[in-house]
Amino acid sequence: MTMAQNHHVPTGQIRNAIGLDIGGTKTAAAVVTGSGQILSHDVTATPGNNKDQNVQELLLEMIQDLRQQYPHVEAIGVGAAGIVEWPRGYIRWAPNNTYQDLPLREIIEDRTQLPTIVDNDANAAAWAEAQLGRAASYRDMIFLTVGTGVGSGIVLNGQLYRGRTGLAAELGHIIVDPQGPQCGCGNRGCLEALASGTALERFGREVSFGHPDSPLAQLATDKGRLSGKTIRDAARQGDQLAKYLFERLGHWLGIGIASLLNVFEVDAVIIGGGLVEAGDLFLGSTRSSAEIHVFAPRHRPVPPILAGSFGSDAGVIGAAHLALTYAPTPSPEIQPVAPSTPQG
Ligand SMILES: [Zn+2]
Repeated sequence: MTMAQNHHVPTGQIRNAIGLDIGGTKTAAAVVTGSGQILSHDVTATPGNNKDQNVQELLLEMIQDLRQQYPHVEAIGVGAAGIVEWPRGYIRWAPNNTYQDLPLREIIEDRTQLPTIVDNDANAAAWAEAQLGRAASYRDMIFLTVGTGVGSGIVLNGQLYRGRTGLAAELGHIIVDPQGPQCGCGNRGCLEALASGTALERFGREVSFGHPDSPLAQLATDKGRLSGKTIRDAARQGDQLAKYLFERLGHWLGIGIASLLNVFEVDAVIIGGGLVEAGDLFLGSTRSSAEIHVFAPRHRPVPPILAGSFGSDAGVIGAAHLALTYAPTPSPEIQPVAPSTPQG
């Protein structure tokens, strides 16, 4: 069911933890060292039916496999798509996943007897970038994941801003076009409904219907459906419609970022998630759109908008690092790395 990749790195006395990342489409698990090195990595499809049981059993199975390879893992960290209470590790609901009201931290601790943290998936990824990635030099930053949905983490003064119970930073659901397409959350015109992989595929289908003779429509017919990967490959080969779809995604992402920049004074906006591998196709239009829509750009310049360091591995790395930092409760001995002076 899963494909494990082992890199055969000797662990010695290095501290390590298991990081899990439950996305809308894929679930990843990895053994990660305290410095963010991945020792073993495993990816499988997120169960899509209405049984919470399947998600938790899949996670426990992945944990067991990794513990057999690395028996000295100290802790488990989970980044889960959706609304997750912190530090309770209780998943309330998720627009793109079937689980809800799931006390995941308690379940994993009971079954594994290892200290566990469960956080929102984008918070975990933001933590990886803020502590170990290129954003570690920035004191204040906004992190956005562009994947099945749009996730986010807000890092202020080097710390994740979670709100009192962990419900803060749902930036994917700020409304950028109230007349726009319906979002998985039920509202219309959320940033996620216009600037995610799901939105890219939906725009792709619409454009293909409107231009049945285009190479993109031909690809959709050949492949049976138009996936984000197909659109990316077509754009890389110079297909004008495919390139336009990415620029349109960047346009909407930039509008969302402009509003966020009006609220926060951040040193950088870091983009992660599955689509950031195609960042060259949309980050330029994201930046120009942010510059057009932000308040007073001549007086409040737009900070760098950059791809993150860890790509789609940020979630597992951040979840494991959060586990080593905070599980089971914040430890006075292990403090997060203090940010240095902002750069760029
Ligand atoms: Zn929404």
